[in-house]
Amino acid sequence: MFRYCPACASEMIRFEETRVFRCPDCGFTYYHNTAAATACIVRSDAGILFLVRNREPGKGMLDLPGGFIDPGEGAMEGLRRELIEELGLDFKADDFKLFASFPNKYPYKNILYNTCDLFFYLDAPDLIERDLKPEEAEISGVQFIKAAELDIERIAFESVKKAVKVYLEMAK
Ligand SMILES: [Zn+2]
Repeated sequence: MFRYCPACASEMIRFEETRVFRCPDCGFTYYHNTAAATACIVRSDAGILFLVRNREPGKGMLDLPGGFIDPGEGAMEGLRRELIEELGLDFKADDFKLFASFPNKYPYKNILYNTCDLFFYLDAPDLIERDLKPEEAEISGVQFIKAAELDIERIAFESVKKAVKVYLEMAK
């Protein structure tokens, strides 16, 4: 990620262990820490709400609404913002219930982000496709899929697959 030390321009900068950049010449240290991200199972009578991804990684595959938590945000606050941005849905932050968390790896523009994904669920029984305003740059479509009709292999990320399995077991 760094070819030269951003502080002293030395070429000796190295990536150590799993997340530390360190420059032996000037002592510059940068922690590429785990980023926190959220995702939400929104369940309506029509099924679980999935997004079809419009960009890599996982273009054309299913994903849950959510995203990275911004600096200064709490998890539910970040998730609420993502649902407004991605789908035009404004839920109350208190309505999101945490049920699982898994690590994930998210390659984006040649940088690998290790994320800690937090999974929430929310019941919105009356929600239908007409209520949604999908953000076209990120989402090529939305689908409500009932548990019995879901092919888990269409889901883009391992952490999301795991969380959906946990949720379906829990919801039985
Ligand atoms: Zn340096």
